[in-house]
Amino acid sequence: MELIASFSVDHTAIIPGIFVSRVDQLGDGLITTYDIRVTRPNREPAIDVAAMHSLEHIIATYLRNDPDWKDEVIYWGPMGCLTGFYLILKGNRKPQEIHSLLLNAFRSVEKADIVPGAQEKNCGNYLLHNLPMAKWYAAKFADYLAANADKPEIFEYPKTERLVTDDGQQFFDS
Ligand SMILES: [Zn+2]
Repeated sequence: MELIASFSVDHTAIIPGIFVSRVDQLGDGLITTYDIRVTRPNREPAIDVAAMHSLEHIIATYLRNDPDWKDEVIYWGPMGCLTGFYLILKGNRKPQEIHSLLLNAFRSVEKADIVPGAQEKNCGNYLLHNLPMAKWYAAKFADYLAANADKPEIFEYPKTERLVTDDGQQFFDS
């Protein structure tokens, strides 16, 4: 049963930020899927795929080792459109409450000397990495998050009616 109706987003209006994509019941508790939007969809170039892959590895490693947050993290992974990531956390926190977590996570990329797990035994496409470019995207997004921390529009995106496909199914992208 859907606890809180998820909604679709007008992707021509979305800006980079931290947004609640959906909230679901899992067992006795709630889990929240956050849209961590790094680039502006369809209005600027999407993230380079090798850099995206390196960002996935470095930030997943950061989140799953942060002593204050590691037990809250269920999932971190890239969007297929290459404009951002999904973060799934236990609980139902407002995006503002995870602003510093994301800021620290993206700042950790700037300090990384290697991409963790980028060996043939650990990764499904170990040659598809680009650490220098990952650092460039991470610095840009971290600076943006820091500069806009007090702007409500980076934490709430415009709601639109959920798209219904021709055969009557509701559209989801996650
Ligand atoms: Zn990999």
